[in-house]
Amino acid sequence: MSQDSPTPVPDPGLRPATVAVTAGRPPHVADQPLNPPIAMASTYVAGGDLEYGRYGNPTWAAFEETLGALEGGRALAFASGLAAVATVLDLVGQDATVVAPRHAYNGTVMQLGDLEARGRLRSELVDVTDTDAVVKACEDAALVWLESPTNPALEVADIATIAAAAHEAGAYVVVDNTFATPLLQRPLELGADLVVHSVTKYLAGHSDVLMGAVVTRDEQLYGVLKGRRDLLGAVPGTLEAYLALRGLRTLHLRVERAQANATDLASRLAAHPAVDQVRYPGFGGIISIVLAGGAPAADLLTRTTRIWVHATSLGGVESSFERRRRWKSEPATIPDALVRLSVGIEDVEDLWDDLRQALDAL
Ligand SMILES: *Cc1c(COP(=O)(O)O)cnc(C)c1O
Repeated sequence: MSQDSPTPVPDPGLRPATVAVTAGRPPHVADQPLNPPIAMASTYVAGGDLEYGRYGNPTWAAFEETLGALEGGRALAFASGLAAVATVLDLVGQDATVVAPRHAYNGTVMQLGDLEARGRLRSELVDVTDTDAVVKACEDAALVWLESPTNPALEVADIATIAAAAHEAGAYVVVDNTFATPLLQRPLELGADLVVHSVTKYLAGHSDVLMGAVVTRDEQLYGVLKGRRDLLGAVPGTLEAYLALRGLRTLHLRVERAQANATDLASRLAAHPAVDQVRYPGFGGIISIVLAGGAPAADLLTRTTRIWVHATSLGGVESSFERRRRWKSEPATIPDALVRLSVGIEDVEDLWDDLRQALDAL
């Protein structure tokens, strides 16, 4: 039982679907609610472990316990995915080198660029699919940042090989596991020291929450990160933590359905003449396509569907898509006509009918 948690740690032998449903609950005692209460509290009666609302909250703790059990470590919730990224990057010493995918999440690459411009650290951006090059880059690194699959290029990294090389060089390894979720990939078991999540995406899963998390097995790193969260204050709202935990309860069902829909749509898209290229790593719910008609065709596609909604972000129950290069900050190595599709949990035939009529008209 973690210090500030009201709930028992789940049996480590339980399978992920059971953990998602049963972890982070009050004990099975008469008159206990089945769900943890939304503890709206800025302060607590003195003398215990919590003391103040920035240091801990029982509703965060219930979420953290569930995510920690799914990833196989201890979790800390943050105000957003990027707040979690910033807290981890802040661990790196002055002038140290961070190796990161050139196609990592745009906000992560922007944070690295900002820190580098201010003389805090050096970043070395790599092609994560080139394992030999990444292993070589690890030699000078203090921190190796991985994201797999990458957003939106959907490149997959060999996490185990890279983590072993990074540890040999004395570097810490972080994996942004937002796209895969702990149901499809458990980076701590592959050797990562830290896992980062944009909880905003699949974990919360309903496009109504901004939240982030970091997970680790290393008690010392956990303590340092908790200390940074206490001090810098990038803490989540209590209602957000409650909604994210409610989202986690169905994570396995949502991921299973989104993945089944995505697998089906990826092959149908590959056969459509308006689609030049389909990128789908074979798991997860995100597909990137490159339109044969270029950026104008991609923009037209996003304006001519009924079910698919044109919006940034991903991992919600609803299918959404966007042309990534509409953002000025997206790197030029991402094709101009690339549309990232976040496949939802609707009926796949309706999703395809809607996409096909739009593609047929291009
Ligand atoms: C969205 C996203 C983030 C940033 O998370 P926010 O919750 O938006 O701050 C980080 N990494 C990946 C892979 C993402 O998709």
